[in-house]
Amino acid sequence: MPDTNSSSQLLIRGTILNPLSDTRLDVFPDGVLLLEREKTGGFRIRAIDHAKSFPLKQARDIPEIDLTGNLILPGFFDIHFHWVQDEVCSAPKENLLDWLTNHVFPREAKFADADYTRKQAAIFAKKLMRAGTFGGAIFCSLHACSVDSALESFTGDFVAGNPLMDMNSPPFLTHETKCALADLEALAERHGSLFAVTPRFALTTSPGLMRAAGKLARDKGLFTQTHLSESPREIASVVAMYSGIPGFEGMKTYTDVYDRVGMLTEKSVTAHAIHMSDDEYRLLAKRGTAVAHCPTSNAPIEERGLGSGLFDFRRAESDGVQWGFGSDIGAGPFLSMFDVMRSFVRQNRRKGIREATFTKALHRATRVGAEILGVGEDSGNLSAGKWANFIVCPAKFRVNDNEGMSGEEILDRLTSCLDTDRTRCESLISRAFYRGEEMSLE
Ligand SMILES: [Zn+2]
Repeated sequence: MPDTNSSSQLLIRGTILNPLSDTRLDVFPDGVLLLEREKTGGFRIRAIDHAKSFPLKQARDIPEIDLTGNLILPGFFDIHFHWVQDEVCSAPKENLLDWLTNHVFPREAKFADADYTRKQAAIFAKKLMRAGTFGGAIFCSLHACSVDSALESFTGDFVAGNPLMDMNSPPFLTHETKCALADLEALAERHGSLFAVTPRFALTTSPGLMRAAGKLARDKGLFTQTHLSESPREIASVVAMYSGIPGFEGMKTYTDVYDRVGMLTEKSVTAHAIHMSDDEYRLLAKRGTAVAHCPTSNAPIEERGLGSGLFDFRRAESDGVQWGFGSDIGAGPFLSMFDVMRSFVRQNRRKGIREATFTKALHRATRVGAEILGVGEDSGNLSAGKWANFIVCPAKFRVNDNEGMSGEEILDRLTSCLDTDRTRCESLISRAFYRGEEMSLE
């Protein structure tokens, strides 16, 4: 192991996959990353290249971490998950609204205890690292301590917020509107731009609270995140409820509700957005609001999802909507973005949609997620100038022997065990480096 503590440069050698667009995934079968230490700490990528075209003279004096036989990929961005629902991901699935009542709300109530919350956050931080997730947008519980603990414990580029719930929620998980606002202001003060304003969804957050929260987000330039149009029953309830509320006269869609309270901005992420009209997608596009697509969570119940339907990414794209991926733990059964990517490909292929490739999936799970969260300049792939945030996956097949193997084939083979042998997949990621520093996966 080279002395990486003192060196200002570092070479990483292995098979590198660098996602550049929905249709372009660069593969360096025998590749090198040249890293350079920043004065303020951490390493950025100075160059990415094939080993054979890298000047040997330059390489001779630089300590090297030889990862030959392994795949090197950028760390993932999971732009929608509930860290406090980790324990319920294996609970039996019903439908969205019953699932919330029977499993999610009782679980989230436990996070009122700050000590318990701190311990759980430390455990979940390890899980995120083992999943290779280095950034994302997080739903906590309504308790302020669940935001504090997440932002203190998780390594990476995360924004986090406490779900605002001041109506239609169980008494043990309901805030007085005034208290919710006071918490919101204090959390925004404490965490600045890492705090995300988070109405749980239109059924649990009063219009008055959403309006005040939306104003706070706009005034302070904060992200907002919420759920949108996940199931037909949820949509019918929202439209029925809001059409009777003053200020929402003539309101036609679920998306309209969020727009009228000022919740849709260029710094907003709406999760799911499955059952949508073209007008709704166009409204999201007009506001610059992104969608977090959660294929494992929306998957059929026999695939351990909630059976909510499949996000029509082609229609969203043609209407101009930006979208990335979310694991949606705990409705989503798996934290790994490899599962999310494979579920996306599989569900779309079943419908004959060939544009749903692994190349596109990796791009969305890394670079696009980083861009949606405003950190695309610094993170999201392995291009020169960005932080050296990458994961290492042992290739259980011989990539180097076959220079012609495409990134698409490599990802397909790498994740093929997810369909058949989950225990073998626990070792999909063997090492993780954040800003060039190796992180413990123990
Ligand atoms: Zn969710």
